[in-house]
Amino acid sequence: MRLKTKFSLLISLLVVIIVLGVTIFLLIAESRFLIKEMEKSRTKMIESLAQVAKESLIVKDDILLLNYLKLIKNTNGLVYALVTDTSNNVIAHTDLNFLGDKLTDDISLKAKKTDGLLIQKYDMDKATPILDLAFPVYVDDKNTGIARIGFSQIALNKAVQEALAVTRRRIFMVAVAALIVGLLGAVILTGMMTGPINKIAQGAQIIGQGKLDHQIAVKSKDELGDLAAEFNKMSDKLKELDQMKSDFVSSVTHELRSPLLSLRMYIDLFNKGAAGEVNDKQKEYLQVMKDGAFRLSRFIDDLLDMAKIERGKMEVTLQSTDLSPVIKETAQLFEPQVNQKKIKLNVVMPEKLPRVTADSVRTQQVLTNLLSNAVKFTPEGGTIAIEARKNDSTKMLEISVSDTGMGIPKDQLNSIFNKFEQVKGARKNVSGPKGTGLGLAIIKGLMEAQGGTIWVESELNKGSKFTFNLPLIG
Ligand code: ADP
Repeated sequence: MRLKTKFSLLISLLVVIIVLGVTIFLLIAESRFLIKEMEKSRTKMIESLAQVAKESLIVKDDILLLNYLKLIKNTNGLVYALVTDTSNNVIAHTDLNFLGDKLTDDISLKAKKTDGLLIQKYDMDKATPILDLAFPVYVDDKNTGIARIGFSQIALNKAVQEALAVTRRRIFMVAVAALIVGLLGAVILTGMMTGPINKIAQGAQIIGQGKLDHQIAVKSKDELGDLAAEFNKMSDKLKELDQMKSDFVSSVTHELRSPLLSLRMYIDLFNKGAAGEVNDKQKEYLQVMKDGAFRLSRFIDDLLDMAKIERGKMEVTLQSTDLSPVIKETAQLFEPQVNQKKIKLNVVMPEKLPRVTADSVRTQQVLTNLLSNAVKFTPEGGTIAIEARKNDSTKMLEISVSDTGMGIPKDQLNSIFNKFEQVKGARKNVSGPKGTGLGLAIIKGLMEAQGGTIWVESELNKGSKFTFNLPLIG
């Protein structure tokens, strides 16, 4: 699983847990608060009734009490409100029919004896459970009766549920909004964190592929910025070391060049009998020496070419060129080799090839190298094709060398153009001298110096197709 996915999931999970926790806490706290508030308002109502009853008794005027009862009569859930005297006779009631009645039921008898707030529950009838609140009425510290209010428990519960539903809806909406913001935040945050990590990983991959001058562009002033800076320092150091190695190799190869040249000249002179008659055995040995010296000087030329390419000093002479003679001539040069391996070599190109800006000598070097690889990695009886065609959309001439050889594994298609890179295990099925792994790196440099490029398509055990392109004229 990618780091970004992991981080996003983890932070999202945390956000969900926090939002869920806060929501549950708010729901519980809110419902408790609501129930408490309702209880408080009921207590206040019964205390007020007792207070109004007291004042009516003091001024001996019922009007005050009756008005108050009228006022609270329509309170939601209120079933009755009444005031009794010390003998439990009803002296005021929201239902005037009860005036003067003597209350003798258990609840009323218990209420009569209370000296503070008394809350009782009972069923008035099967469908009406009642919550009865009783509060004594004192005049001059003397108990003069009881104020009572009965609420329908069903109505009270309904009121609580309705109030809770509104609260729940609000909390739910806030929770959803918090969740959306939190999840979005999680994705943005992880993107901010993993973006630089991805950049560093990509940079390290590019450096690992041999592009030692690559610099990672993470400028943040944190640990990731420090890590990127260290990577950049490392690539600078690697580049420096690579440069030192290249300088060393090119100076050594330069020094090797002249003695090798004289060696080859003297082998030729020996061969021609300039130092006396050579017999067949000696001729055979001299040929082995000649082949070895030739390979060595090819290797030295490759090393020097590579060094020039790396320093950007590869010189190419670009001019308007018709590449068809170059293609035909190079194909002809390979005839002995393809015949020997019974390989079919096809050249497919239009009668007249459009002219391109190119260095014909360097282009021939590219083609030769590609053909020599194709011959090397194609088994007997295979086919090699050279094709040239105009690409109107890119305004380039594309030349490809395809073969029916062993192919290149997908994961090595990019690295194959790096110097000294060879497909692992490919040598097993190939005869002839071991290559150096410099050819494709040089070809790439030569193509880039001519304003072109090269790429490869390949399928393992089916074949490869190397294509390079050059800018068309006009
Ligand atoms: P060399 O041929 O000297 O090893 P190159 O740079 O020309 O060096 O090629 C690098 C590697 O690419 C070869 O060693 C081989 O593994 C692979 N390769 C190149 N051309 C082909 C091809 N036509 N078919 C299969 N593999 C190839």
